[in-house]
Amino acid sequence: MSPCWSAPGSADVVKTLDDLLAEGVAGRRVLVRSDLNVPLDGDKITDDGRIIASAPVPDALAGAGARVVVCAHLGRPKGVRDPRYSLRPVATRLSEVLGREVRFANDVVGESAQITTAALVDGDVAMLENVRFEAGETSKDDAERGAFADQLAALADADVDDAFGAVHRKHASVYDVAQRLPHYAGWLVLRELSVLRRLTEDPDRPYVVVLGGSKVSDKLGVIEALLPKVDRLLVGGGMCFTFLAAQGHGVGGSLLEADQVDTCRRLLAESQDKITLPTDVVVAAEVTEDAETEVVPASAIPPDRKGLDVGPATVAEFGAALTGARTVFWNGPMGVFEVAPFASGTLGVALAIAGCDGFTVVGGGDSAAAIRQLGLDETAFSHISTGGGASLEFLEGRTLPGIAILET
Ligand code: ADP
Ligand code: MG
Repeated sequence: MSPCWSAPGSADVVKTLDDLLAEGVAGRRVLVRSDLNVPLDGDKITDDGRIIASAPVPDALAGAGARVVVCAHLGRPKGVRDPRYSLRPVATRLSEVLGREVRFANDVVGESAQITTAALVDGDVAMLENVRFEAGETSKDDAERGAFADQLAALADADVDDAFGAVHRKHASVYDVAQRLPHYAGWLVLRELSVLRRLTEDPDRPYVVVLGGSKVSDKLGVIEALLPKVDRLLVGGGMCFTFLAAQGHGVGGSLLEADQVDTCRRLLAESQDKITLPTDVVVAAEVTEDAETEVVPASAIPPDRKGLDVGPATVAEFGAALTGARTVFWNGPMGVFEVAPFASGTLGVALAIAGCDGFTVVGGGDSAAAIRQLGLDETAFSHISTGGGASLEFLEGRTLPGIAILET
């Protein structure tokens, strides 16, 4: 049993994979909900970080003689079979990582899933097709989700939730299945929760948070929740332009969420100077590999240009704030790092965080992908979270349905 790490006041223990292994799993069918939602280019996996992070649980269970049934989602196929989102390439990669055959079912709970799981012998691993091919997975209707969860639960005798990136979703495979089977928290979920807890409970100071990414509206909740706890909040990425607009600056064709300007103005006023915005910005007319770029003051973005990265002075200022930080949380790239002329800001800030010898945590799918894509040493960070939305919702103090249900 482990202490519970989500909502205060709820039951204070959660059963873990270690408890399940101690019970003995030989001959038992164990459903493992993993987060294998990797970026794909056609059927080529461009970043296998989540597969690598998820492998230890099926590996340990298979090694202990369980009949393992891995269940996961990929992208947003909207409740229908869509070959672009097939998990088959992911099953192939997981098989390589595990060094074991992974038997792939062509459906989620249909004939193929039933035949495949029924044929498992002790130590075998199977993977179901993308759970979001079934409308019941994400349905808002409890009965529809429940009916699908009944079918999923029928394939197993126990349920391990290791899909940290999905624990903020009230989905059948994350929530309802755990109501129907003995349920256990997987190692990845436990590790993620213990790291995030360090960020919310008495962090070492100075505590510096760096936020970027595209949408300010996605991150307002976390800004509100973290502002009272942090010493500095550094804001870059597409979201900084709504803040710059709130200060009265023109932002040209940059990302702007006009309906959030008032909220940003209030946050700036309430933040007691904790919020630091970019002082210079890399602008261009379009997002292209051969774009002509220019560095301009953040207060002087030309009307016909878009702000697509933070500038070198900002990287230096953010770097200075990060030097000597004892706790750092970073979510969201500083610019359109996927396109070379706009990657320097993200690279510079990532290097500053990597060089900081405090406790450094990176959250967010694109931020984690940026670290690997820019060739940084992953081990230079204390923790790279596999969950973007889930880690933000945890930091906001919201109840995560996939964790709450493990506590029951
Ligand atoms: P994460 O997945 O790490 O939480 P987000 O999904 O919030 O991050 O944002 C990532 C996206 O933000 C990236 O695709 C990046 O191109 C985009 N982005 C960053 N800065 C800008 C900008 N100035 N203008 C437009 N898009 C931006
Ligand atoms: Mg993202």
